[in-house]
Amino acid sequence: MYREMNEKRTEKQLKRIIRTVIGAGILLLTGGVIFAAILVDMMDRSVAKQLQEETEGYCKRLYDQIHSDFQIIDTVASVIGSSGLAERTDFPELLDLANYKNDFLTMIYMDDSGTLAAAVLDQGVTEKDISGVSEEAQKVLLEAMEGNQSISRIIQGALSKEEVIIYGTPVYDGNEIVGALAASSRIDIFREILSADVSAGGTSYVNMIDLDGNYVVRSGKDDISGQLTNVFSSPYFDEADTQAAKQQLQDTGKFEFSFSYNGERYKGLIQSVGIHEGCLFSVINTRMGSREIYVLIHAAGVLLGMMLFLMLGLLSYGCRLVWKNGIKLRQIAYYDSLTGACNMLCFRQNVEENLRTDRKYSILALNVYQFKFINEIYGREQGDRVLRFIKDQIEKNLEPGEIFCRETADIFYIYTTETDKERLEKRLKILMDSVTRVASDAKGDYQLLLCCGAAVVEENEKSQTLDEIMTHVMLALERAKEVHQNNVMFFDKELHQKEILGNYVESHMNQALEDREFQLYLQPKISLNSGKTAGAEALVRWFKSDGGMIYPDQFIPLFEANGFCVQFDMYMVESVCRKLREWIDQGAEPFPVSVNQSKRTFYEKDYISWLIKITDKYRIPAELITLEILEGFAFENVEEVNRKIEGLQEKGFRVSLDDFGSEYSSMNTLGKIRINELKLDRWFLKDVAEGKKNVKVIMEQIIELAHKLNIPTVVEGVETLEDHDMIRELHCDYGQGYYYSRPVSADEFFASWLNQE
Ligand code: C2E
Ligand code: CA
Ligand code: CA
Repeated sequence: MYREMNEKRTEKQLKRIIRTVIGAGILLLTGGVIFAAILVDMMDRSVAKQLQEETEGYCKRLYDQIHSDFQIIDTVASVIGSSGLAERTDFPELLDLANYKNDFLTMIYMDDSGTLAAAVLDQGVTEKDISGVSEEAQKVLLEAMEGNQSISRIIQGALSKEEVIIYGTPVYDGNEIVGALAASSRIDIFREILSADVSAGGTSYVNMIDLDGNYVVRSGKDDISGQLTNVFSSPYFDEADTQAAKQQLQDTGKFEFSFSYNGERYKGLIQSVGIHEGCLFSVINTRMGSREIYVLIHAAGVLLGMMLFLMLGLLSYGCRLVWKNGIKLRQIAYYDSLTGACNMLCFRQNVEENLRTDRKYSILALNVYQFKFINEIYGREQGDRVLRFIKDQIEKNLEPGEIFCRETADIFYIYTTETDKERLEKRLKILMDSVTRVASDAKGDYQLLLCCGAAVVEENEKSQTLDEIMTHVMLALERAKEVHQNNVMFFDKELHQKEILGNYVESHMNQALEDREFQLYLQPKISLNSGKTAGAEALVRWFKSDGGMIYPDQFIPLFEANGFCVQFDMYMVESVCRKLREWIDQGAEPFPVSVNQSKRTFYEKDYISWLIKITDKYRIPAELITLEILEGFAFENVEEVNRKIEGLQEKGFRVSLDDFGSEYSSMNTLGKIRINELKLDRWFLKDVAEGKKNVKVIMEQIIELAHKLNIPTVVEGVETLEDHDMIRELHCDYGQGYYYSRPVSADEFFASWLNQE
């Protein structure tokens, strides 16, 4: 039980620690995740905002560039249209000049008849047929002839042989379109714009695409899609997204998206430039985009990780510590460090566990006889060796299911379900003898002896607690210690109860006397002639403070053994005298009362003077007091007894010989003793009732002899009418027994039996 409690406590502690740490960990983690989520959200917003701003910056610059290009080309167109320059023969040269001055690569003029004049930078003038220019240029020119300004995709210029973009604008003379002017510009300028960092941060890259996602101008900074010709593909979009993106782009001119690539997160934006189908396709690495926040998240993550790691470390350390401590404590708590055997605590727990199922069992206690001398003579080490040796021997002799332990010093306990005393004794003797033999082989000069106390608990005795049984074992061991040889003593319940009582008697008798717990009971003595009460016998009853009552048989022998009887007998004499005085004072006619006297009291030197002192004190005539002495001691020393009897008789006391016939009664000695009354032991009547032959004759002889000696007779133990009739028939003088009355309290006796005047 203790072990379970301990283990449960350790387990509880561990669980509490684990719960706390896990709780703290979860809290920390949740906090961390929320914090990270907030940061990521902040980061996303900030990145999106940055992307938006940067893209708008690019858009503006592109728009400005294109717009200014259109302004230039428009100015040239208006000069051509309004001044009829196209009609001039040196028009190609003029065109070349305008081209040169305005930094275009190529300028192509087409009049309304479809005749082309083209100036190519640094190459001079060429007259081309419309089919001689690139398809894009044709488109732009035809569009311009329709009155629309337009801008081409990026193409490989047919004339310039460079990557160009072509602007087209109509040439008016008044309100009439007289021609179309196209000018191609190197796309480097766009590339420059796109590759320039708009913001100081400039962490994004941007490219120009058309509405279908085809690249128009590549900035050269596109680090992911270097291989792609169209952005509507992986990793930017999967097929499902593409449609939605295109649609939204068409509707709003803007589409935001995000994607992951190579473990990095990106945000993207497609935004229409505002001229024709040109769009900017911007992508930003979120990490690069908001490096500070990212660093913060990273730092927080690292910190969190470190804290969690630390926590886990502490947790595992704590658990290991608690666990190790638990093991150590268990080791200390349950095992004997000297022999390695179970200790008492462990033993008790295991026994209690077994008692749940075992229906009968025995507990044995083995003790080394005078072990302390082994320690003293041979030293502690040798003593320890002996104990270890005994432990080994016990272990060897154990049978399956048996448990043993070493308590303190040299006491070993064994638990077994064997309850047959003979078998137990045999096994124990073998064990003890083997210890003695092996020990004396090793140390020839010393005989190691063991004693063993045992308590057997049978099935019907299982209600006894283990504590009680352990006490019984110890009591049996105490008795075994008295015999100086290998021996086994079993606990004897009856003997033990006697011991308990004896203990109580000895430890309480003085106080009981002081507290008047000894009470006077009286049993009438009936005259068989008159049928009247002729006297009474004082019999004591001990009423204990706890309310229980003890009969004299249980304590008088102890008082006789310890000498308290002297004091006690005098107390009873005084009680009788006091009562008699009370009754006399109340006007009652008193009669003799017999008081039992023990041998010791009787032999006391001052016995007679003590008695007189008491009778004098209560003014009681000595004739009213009969002293009952036992047959046993009266015949031991007839002369001395007679001397005492005579001394008593001189003072007026009467002496009765009690329990005659119970021991070695002899008719011969009866004549020698000078008693005033003979009390025949109640066993006579018992034997008669049981039909034993000659008993009645013996009684008759005794009564006859007593009469001859002039000694009145009393028969004790008259229980039935037959008894009464028989003793009358035998001419006995008095009868005493339950037939007339049980011993009753003095008050009851007074009320029922005392003849009042
Ligand atoms: P005892 O002196 O032989 O006393 C008679 C015992 O027989 C009493 O037992 C009494 O109760 C019992 N008795 C009386 N009539 C009958 C009967 O019809 N049948 C049976 N079976 N028993 C009967 P009690 O009172 O238990 O006393 C036992 C013994 O203790 C006495 O035997 C006496 O030796 C001693 N004792 C009692 N009181 C005192 C005392 O005050 N002083 C001393 N020294 N001894 C006392
Ligand atoms: Ca008696
Ligand atoms: Ca008697």
